[in-house]
Amino acid sequence: MWETGFNNETLRKKNRGLVLRLVTTGECTSRIGVSKYTGLSKMAATNIISQLIDEEILEEKETIRVKGKGRNPIWLDLSKKAPKLIGVSIASDVCSVVLSDMHLRILGKTGFYVRKVDPGKIMENICRCIDRVIKKSPKEKFWGIGVTVPGPVDLLKGMILSHSGFPEMENIPIVEVLEEKYHMPVLLESRQNCAALAEKYYGNGHDTEDFLLVGIGDEIGPGVISHGNLRESASGITPELGHMSIDINGRECCCGRRGCLRSYIEGSVLRAEYAEATGTDVTFRELCRAAEKGEEAADRILSKMTERLTFGLVNAVNLLGPQKIILGGEGFRLPGKYVSELERLINEGKLSPEPLTICVSALGEEAGVRSSAARLLMEIFEGELK
Ligand SMILES: [Zn+2]
Repeated sequence: MWETGFNNETLRKKNRGLVLRLVTTGECTSRIGVSKYTGLSKMAATNIISQLIDEEILEEKETIRVKGKGRNPIWLDLSKKAPKLIGVSIASDVCSVVLSDMHLRILGKTGFYVRKVDPGKIMENICRCIDRVIKKSPKEKFWGIGVTVPGPVDLLKGMILSHSGFPEMENIPIVEVLEEKYHMPVLLESRQNCAALAEKYYGNGHDTEDFLLVGIGDEIGPGVISHGNLRESASGITPELGHMSIDINGRECCCGRRGCLRSYIEGSVLRAEYAEATGTDVTFRELCRAAEKGEEAADRILSKMTERLTFGLVNAVNLLGPQKIILGGEGFRLPGKYVSELERLINEGKLSPEPLTICVSALGEEAGVRSSAARLLMEIFEGELK
């Protein structure tokens, strides 16, 4: 392991990023709060905050009234003039391009149906959408562009390795293409890693140091937060869960192996099972609603899915030891009884006696789009972007 020391400039950047994160995510709302939380002297905290206010990234709001003697602290918040984030979310059906603030609130949105576009022209369409977002915000400054795809991606090369069902999108150096065109930082990340970061900053992972974000529905995949940070591999390859085998003699998967989790629990597989049982085509949302109403076929399919998901997740939990699992993707639609059952089964099956909680994403339906620029936010909070 190669370790380097921190020189003053690196420390200054890290402290600045940390203060920005604490105020932006609402963990600290005053100068004194920042000083107490970080251990920085009042003078050092004040200097960083004053600089962020001068740069119109933070602003002072009303005074916080507190009982007792002494001056009342002044409330700090993100400035409306703070630079914005551009997020590109490439899903299996829709590509969305959004303008968001650092709270990951969507301020503007455009996009296109991926399957309605000539596959060779997807990049061209993405650029047209980014152009539209920038044109509609002539007074805004931008931190950069964040891009998410379902994966797998090579983060070191800034490349989409493959996109399910789109051979034309294999090995696209999307970071290089967008940086050359827009002259601003571009960061690529897997959808589930971004969703995990968004949950860490603004969702149900806010108070948890170690958790897994598990996308279910049409995109099975994990995002891993370890010691409060995104787990990243030295190879730059994002983690996989859908291709974890739960049966060596099982169903053949598109990856060439057998028994992969996604061959059993992916949204399209569940919908096909439901259509075979009832003769009706449904969406994942409709399947969940039917199960909630107690419909037998839907209940059977989701119960089976819960059981199979348990197999895969017990392996992941034994390997990584998270405190919590957050169900992302379309998992937020899963009726409570299946979430509770999943929690019970995994706690029964895993080796560690530490209780594990399971909940659904707090960001809900918009999670994929809202979190598309979360990697960019991570770099800002680490002081790497200015
Ligand atoms: Zn597979």
